[in-house]
Amino acid sequence: MNIVIFGAPGSGKGTQSQKIIEHYGLNHISTGQLLRRHIKEGTELGKIADSFISNGNLIPDSLMIEVLEHHIDSHPGMLDKGIIFDGFPRTIPQAEELKVLLAKRGTEVHGVIGLEVPEEELISRMIERGKREGRADDTPETIANRLKVYDSQTAPLQQYYTDRQLYMPVNGNGDVDSIFAGIKVHLDKLK
Ligand code: ATP
Ligand code: MG
Repeated sequence: MNIVIFGAPGSGKGTQSQKIIEHYGLNHISTGQLLRRHIKEGTELGKIADSFISNGNLIPDSLMIEVLEHHIDSHPGMLDKGIIFDGFPRTIPQAEELKVLLAKRGTEVHGVIGLEVPEEELISRMIERGKREGRADDTPETIANRLKVYDSQTAPLQQYYTDRQLYMPVNGNGDVDSIFAGIKVHLDKLK
């Protein structure tokens, strides 16, 4: 079972991914985490990624896809149990590429969990996270740009996956466990 967890910045993709991994035994790929690791280690990719992330912009599609494909190929067996894709795809071209990448490996996306959270709540969560974790992109100016980028480049994926009968909306407002209960209702039907 390959799942995409989808939602605006601060919608709780990372938090709910952890719950899904524990409960369903899936492998996790967070493109945000992957890129932040490169930045921390100061790799070539990290230097390029930093200039985009710290301004709240997306990494170019071609580069992001290359990074994802390399990560999957360097972790053989990952697709056997299935993967939860967290933070990818973030654009329509990325979704098209994900389809091709998975088809080449004999599989597909089985469902998309859409975490739906009101914008005021997104902003206050990111401001809190900024104070707690000091993430460079959780500052007020960058948050505003990330939300703008989300609306223009990422939100259209909701319709894209709805058209393909893959989109499963979940109320992402409330406590972690009740949100996860909403996710389980959908994923239990896919198992
Ligand atoms: P959440 O709070 O729901 O976990 P998030 O806003 O923390 O989501 P991450 O997934 O951690 O977001 O991504 C952080 C940043 O990394 C993005 O703003 C973007 O610059 C870059 N990034 C991550 N995934 C992609 C992608 N698929 N394409 C382009 N850039 C990406
Ligand atoms: Mg995240």
